[in-house]
Amino acid sequence: MLVGGHGRESRLARATTADRLADYERRYRQLAEQLAEIGLISSGSVTRRFTRCGTAGCRCHAEPPQPHGPYYQWTAKVNGKTVTRRLTDGEAKLYQEWIANDRRMRRLITQMRQVAAKAGELKIREAARQ
Ligand SMILES: [Zn+2]
Repeated sequence: MLVGGHGRESRLARATTADRLADYERRYRQLAEQLAEIGLISSGSVTRRFTRCGTAGCRCHAEPPQPHGPYYQWTAKVNGKTVTRRLTDGEAKLYQEWIANDRRMRRLITQMRQVAAKAGELKIREAARQ
């Protein structure tokens, strides 16, 4: 059975499909360009912590307590194990930037998947017409 036919309507449908496909491909390239511009990425998260030491009579054990810190700490799962790392203020800034990049990258990839699925659907339909 011939699905596409040869009428004007079918040619119009084809032009529209080609336009939509071109739009999706343009959008996909834009997303890929944004992806290429993302700097370093990192998994995990940065937290700001206050701690108490083991020294008796230290201000961190006073009433009210004056804990040490704030300290920055990076926590991530590496090969299934939770890894923590004490960070300086400067390191914390860098990690926060990399973690934000990581989130942005995942968002972009999600969008690329959505656009690719729509474009792919059109391509599959096109291929079925031939
Ligand atoms: Zn202390």
